[in-house]
Amino acid sequence: MAEEFDLYEILSITRDASKEDVRKAYRKSALASHPDKVPESEREEAEIKFKSVQEAYDILYDDDKRHLYDTHGMSAFNGSGEPGMGAGPDLDDILEQMFGMGGMGGMGGMPGMGGMGGMPGGQRQKPRRTPNEEQKYEVNLEDLYKGKTVRFASTKNVLCSLCHGKGGKERATAKKCGTCDGHGFREVLQQMGGFLTQSSVPCTTCSGVGSYFSPKDKCKKCKGKKTTEEKKMLEIWIPRGAREGDKIILEGEADQKPDQEPGDIIFHIVEPEHSTFQRAGADLTTTIDVTLAEALTGFSRVVVKHLDGRGIEISHPKTPGNVLSPGQVLKVPGEGMPIKRSDSRGDLYLVVNVQFPDDKWSPSPAVLEKLREMLPKPGPHIEANPVDDVDYDPKGNMEQFGSNDPQGGSAWEDDDDDEPTTAQCATQ
Ligand SMILES: [Zn+2]
Ligand SMILES: [Zn+2]
Repeated sequence: MAEEFDLYEILSITRDASKEDVRKAYRKSALASHPDKVPESEREEAEIKFKSVQEAYDILYDDDKRHLYDTHGMSAFNGSGEPGMGAGPDLDDILEQMFGMGGMGGMGGMPGMGGMGGMPGGQRQKPRRTPNEEQKYEVNLEDLYKGKTVRFASTKNVLCSLCHGKGGKERATAKKCGTCDGHGFREVLQQMGGFLTQSSVPCTTCSGVGSYFSPKDKCKKCKGKKTTEEKKMLEIWIPRGAREGDKIILEGEADQKPDQEPGDIIFHIVEPEHSTFQRAGADLTTTIDVTLAEALTGFSRVVVKHLDGRGIEISHPKTPGNVLSPGQVLKVPGEGMPIKRSDSRGDLYLVVNVQFPDDKWSPSPAVLEKLREMLPKPGPHIEANPVDDVDYDPKGNMEQFGSNDPQGGSAWEDDDDDEPTTAQCATQ
């Protein structure tokens, strides 16, 4: 509906209007075009006006959406105030939002205003719809972070432009199908697991329609099929902060069929695993490598590249002498994923991995002595007698722990079973 209109014109404001201007203009226009204020005959028109005012406000009051509108126009929103997501707002929701009340209450009575589009009392019969086309759509974390507009070509069946879905020439009339006697389907006997069952199958002669045009009467363009294939450029907008399972709906973009409303194309967002970040809701986490020297003496450098390409710099410590321990977590507030429909963001959790020197490190005895002097001393001496100086494998593997148990199973699993037993004994 808003395709032909300029959102700024709808609210009667200039393109450089401030947010406050947008809000004021919205209240003024919404009240002026309120469907309750016009005679019955103009109500439908008023509702359309009212909804476009609401839509203009939804987009222009939100900085992100306004930017998107300024750069892409309405195509970024595919016909609803919520970019790419679902149907337009319900009139009742709008009323509630504007006046803080649900539905009719206290509005002086608005008979027949319950539904959308001014249909009296919801008597409108829902037209049949062609099936929705659902598909998975993989979006990487970078794009979910920044938001993205995707354009792609889609081939779909549209009503034939020559016969407008009739299938035959202008003056021709379709003949009743003799094979199915005009029913469009036939009863057939099928053998299923030793039983004969009767079932209906679409008639192949008339393709389930019940009638057909003789070859000379068929529409030249669609050859009687009523629809033709058409390539169309579609555009979807992935909002910032979208996540796995979110749906992006292109209303009415599924295949067209005569006498049916076209269904929607629905994309289900799939989020592939990311090489650096893991996501939980709006929070992100990643591991940062820090050398032992850095962990002990501090550092100030970029530790990770964020999803938008920014370097995230950490300066540590804040107070001299504070060291970083392996597994320590640095929580960076507000550096997680954007939260949809808001300006806030989740947090970033940086898990510290201290890289100890490897085999190639060969310090002199003097250096080691210095280090020993500088670093904190071990805890109290363990008193024991006798003392055995033992041999050991410096590359032991905890996966072998318990694996020599003759009863099978590893000690890891036994651990869990043991604990409750011990606890029970202790309470008895
Ligand atoms: Zn037939
Ligand atoms: Zn045709």
